[in-house]
Amino acid sequence: SYRNTRYMMSAPNVNDAPPDEGFEVAFAGRSNAGKSSAINVITQQKALARVSKTPGRTQMLNFFRVDDHRRLVDLPGYGYAQVPEAIQKNWRQALEGYFSERRSLRGVFLVMDIRHPMTPFDHRMIEWCRHWELPLHIALTKADKLSRGAALQTLRTVEAELKAQQGLNFSLQILSALKRIGLEEAWAVLDRWLEM
Ligand code: GDP
Repeated sequence: SYRNTRYMMSAPNVNDAPPDEGFEVAFAGRSNAGKSSAINVITQQKALARVSKTPGRTQMLNFFRVDDHRRLVDLPGYGYAQVPEAIQKNWRQALEGYFSERRSLRGVFLVMDIRHPMTPFDHRMIEWCRHWELPLHIALTKADKLSRGAALQTLRTVEAELKAQQGLNFSLQILSALKRIGLEEAWAVLDRWLEM
């Protein structure tokens, strides 16, 4: 269970992160994709991920403690052209450092709005996972906004696009934080990645 997950600390880069021990899973998603809502429903808490959005804590890496050996990490989701180039560059460097160096990182849980999948932000995250051989799990969230048929159609389209990426280790699912659809699948992925 992820019910006892608590905010730990935020860090501007991997050098200031907690000791690289045990296991962690990183959550990524373009701004407004639904990442905070996904983290909250997965950890069965009302506002856990809100701390990452609190001014002063909008840092690169936001660490949440699941237990002594496991962590969830909330990564900021830029994706708007308005973000100044200097900040985008800083973001790229911090995340590349984290992905390339972090030994306890077991996988990336990428949240996409099912109505707007595969944005440039998402393509960049996918490319990084492929490059650093990190397992990737994609949750197509806000599925309650589409009919079941349309949601499955999007799932198949995204799956076909990912299958074309040589050497990418991926899985994907439909999620709704609002209707609590897909929680068992999300928990199973985290359990698998974080198992000792
Ligand atoms: P973040 O910026 O990626 O952390 O996104 P948030 O979790 O803050 O969600 C952005 C907006 O989408 C908010 O208005 C949420 O209420 C809404 N939202 C998030 N998840 C869902 C969902 O599963 N269904 C619906 N209908 N709305 C959602």
